[in-house]
Amino acid sequence: MVAVDDDDSGHSIAIWPDGGYWMRGVRKGRIRLGVCLFACVLLAACERSPRMYERSLYVFGTLVSVSAWTSDEAAFDRAVDQIDRRFQSMHRDWHAWRGNGELVRLNQALAAGESMRVSDFLLPLLIQGKALYDASDGLFNPAIGRLIALWGFHDDEPSGGLPPDPGAIAKLVDAAPGMDDVSIEGHRIRATNPWIALDLGAYAKGHALNVAIRILHELGIDNAIVNAGGDLCVSGGHGGRPWHIGVRHPQGEGVIASLDARDGECVLTSGNYERYREYAGVRYAHIIDPRSGYPVAHIASATVIARNGALADAAATALSVAGAPLWQRIAGRMGVDEVMLVDGDGRVYLTPAMKRRIDLTPTGGARGK
Ligand code: ADP
Ligand code: MG
Repeated sequence: MVAVDDDDSGHSIAIWPDGGYWMRGVRKGRIRLGVCLFACVLLAACERSPRMYERSLYVFGTLVSVSAWTSDEAAFDRAVDQIDRRFQSMHRDWHAWRGNGELVRLNQALAAGESMRVSDFLLPLLIQGKALYDASDGLFNPAIGRLIALWGFHDDEPSGGLPPDPGAIAKLVDAAPGMDDVSIEGHRIRATNPWIALDLGAYAKGHALNVAIRILHELGIDNAIVNAGGDLCVSGGHGGRPWHIGVRHPQGEGVIASLDARDGECVLTSGNYERYREYAGVRYAHIIDPRSGYPVAHIASATVIARNGALADAAATALSVAGAPLWQRIAGRMGVDEVMLVDGDGRVYLTPAMKRRIDLTPTGGARGK
């Protein structure tokens, strides 16, 4: 661990496109495809050169932008349409509180003491959720849906007002729902603890980003970046250069750090700045420490790079909970070695592997905006 920045300004951090080339890239419809260099009398021989394309989708309550460096605009469009359909169905099926999707039905079944057969789509996520729960010593715990709901984070807009009754929090902590209480036999899911409510919010987006990159590959697009509100996965690069990613400063608009993302990597951040409730000047973030039942207060954000998006996402959440005393041990157990943490005082902690590849902006200023 190396503390490399102890300015006292910060509370949050996010991966943020820093005005690198891809953000200024060519927008579909705005700039027509390139110039045919050879005599266009032979129209069929007229080759398109690769360009930047970008389209935005609105899903998971955030803007998702898909950018690609390609000469095949039609394939890009087909890929984005497919990603849109997959993301919308994930959003519907894996929503923890709205509608009647698969996760809502599973939670109803578990609460009633019944088992349920789940689909091929949900099953791998639940299997991975159990493994990540174990590896994180339970700090990443997608079984604490009731606590998350109690704190009001199962509302579209978390309200202000008094925090929940401490007695109600203690009751849920004592009930100790965990993924080790969830048993998986084939596609059949059971819970031995009636207080279990599954919430995939801490890792489903990371999984979805990997799926998007896979869809792009399947349609021949091997140079792309999919960015869901600052969480992203990439493939290839653009014009022979890597995708350059800016990391938003915890406070304000600036960039605290930047890095080149490599082929197949995902960069995921959990932070206490995106979703929170506030009462009497205190901010209660949507990341809950399952040990206490209270929102994490000491860590402003955690950023993790890994090839598996769900792992990076879950680890970012777990390391936010772990905080300064535990984060290195938990990172080791989860198998992530490229990690950056920013604490509530704006101090930055880096693993050696992250330190080797990240470029910290000295003052956390507005570079790259
Ligand atoms: P973001 O969505 O901002 O990227 P996270 O990936 O950390 O942040 O996900 C936060 C969400 O995960 C919360 O809204 C909640 O649904 C869920 N969650 C909160 N605390 C935990 C936890 N300790 N373990 C697993 N899931 C959690
Ligand atoms: Mg997460």
